[in-house]
Amino acid sequence: MNVLVINCGSSSLKFQLINAKSEEVLAKGICERIGIDGRLTYQPEGGEKEKSEKAMPTHTEAIQFVIEALTNPETGVVNSLDEIGAVGHRMVHGGEKFASSVVITDEVKKAVEECNDLAPLHNPANLIGVAACENLMPNTPMVAVFDTAFHQTMPPKAYMYGLPYEYYEKYKVRRYGFHGTSHSFVSKRAAELLGKAYDETKTIVCHLGNGASISAVKDGKCVDTSMGLTPLEGLVMGTRSGDIDPAIMEYIAKKEDLDIAGVMNVLNKKSGLEGISGLSSDFRDLTAGAKEGNKRAIAAIEVFCYRVAKYVGSYAAAMNGVDAIAFTAGIGENVGLVREKVCSYLGYLGITLDAEANAKSGDDCVISAADSKVKVAVIPTNEELAICRETVALV
Ligand code: ADP
Repeated sequence: MNVLVINCGSSSLKFQLINAKSEEVLAKGICERIGIDGRLTYQPEGGEKEKSEKAMPTHTEAIQFVIEALTNPETGVVNSLDEIGAVGHRMVHGGEKFASSVVITDEVKKAVEECNDLAPLHNPANLIGVAACENLMPNTPMVAVFDTAFHQTMPPKAYMYGLPYEYYEKYKVRRYGFHGTSHSFVSKRAAELLGKAYDETKTIVCHLGNGASISAVKDGKCVDTSMGLTPLEGLVMGTRSGDIDPAIMEYIAKKEDLDIAGVMNVLNKKSGLEGISGLSSDFRDLTAGAKEGNKRAIAAIEVFCYRVAKYVGSYAAAMNGVDAIAFTAGIGENVGLVREKVCSYLGYLGITLDAEANAKSGDDCVISAADSKVKVAVIPTNEELAICRETVALV
């Protein structure tokens, strides 16, 4: 069976068509500028990337173009829609309603809609993607895979904030966590790499991309994670601040004459690596800047790594030990310097890195030294494949 994996944003739609049996990506691409003008990038396996401008007033036209590209007699990878057995949709926020993936029904859509307040930019876009696919493929089963679901196993002590309890009861203010599909995928793979049973392994997953989060996974269940009610909490990210003293918000609002939306904009879009460095949110630019002696680029890298190390330490405490630390996503997979700096704080856990392995790390590799008490690994994440697997399991 082929599974179409859809990740719908407010003005974009990423897709992959995956052969579920061989797990081979048959084609992938992205529709951008939906509702503005419209651009489709499409790449069949082993083929050239094609870019085309197409009018996409809504996500329905975008999906229509994706299907046309997939079934195109020359560059397509399937003969007809019948060869797409199921669609897996990435959903951002499932609130407390969804602790696992589900087959999409009218009830499910209603429940997702009820979580819209918790992710006002993402959930409505995800639902538009579902509706657009349903229009064009009314008989194809669809599955919702939630970013928050994997973290629903956290105990109350990890998800409750020190706020009036009625905010939790009335408004569902609590820690939810995100990147769950990635944390689940990577923690499972880490146990495999260790040769241990998943339900007997303590793993800390460092998902370090433009958005970044850490999770503590004990005996196959997430017990804590760094993102909170929203993806703003936790690590220092590309443009997000991560943890700050909440009183800074009022202080900055007064000094800069900003309202709450203005302060939130600063914390989400002008902070993090970009805010500290004044250079870029992109780690490649920061490492290049640091090499040239740019002090603020150096500071941004130091703050980033220190924050990761502090979280690792706290999660080792939360789980009373750790068997494996796994680095993943753009920075975690590609920047040996970050892994080295983070691990340099973790000697007290008996961690030693194999410098050579760390420098040339490729897919799924252990980078800790043979005598290290904790295994450290680089495990490329693959959220689309994880969504494909979840979809197949349910249909
Ligand atoms: P997201 O999915 O959250 O947008 P990614 O997982 O793609 O983020 O990670 C993006 C980050 O990873 C950027 O900071 C980028 O600079 C960094 N990155 C990606 N590839 C490399 C690489 N080869 N070398 C250094 N940094 C990289």
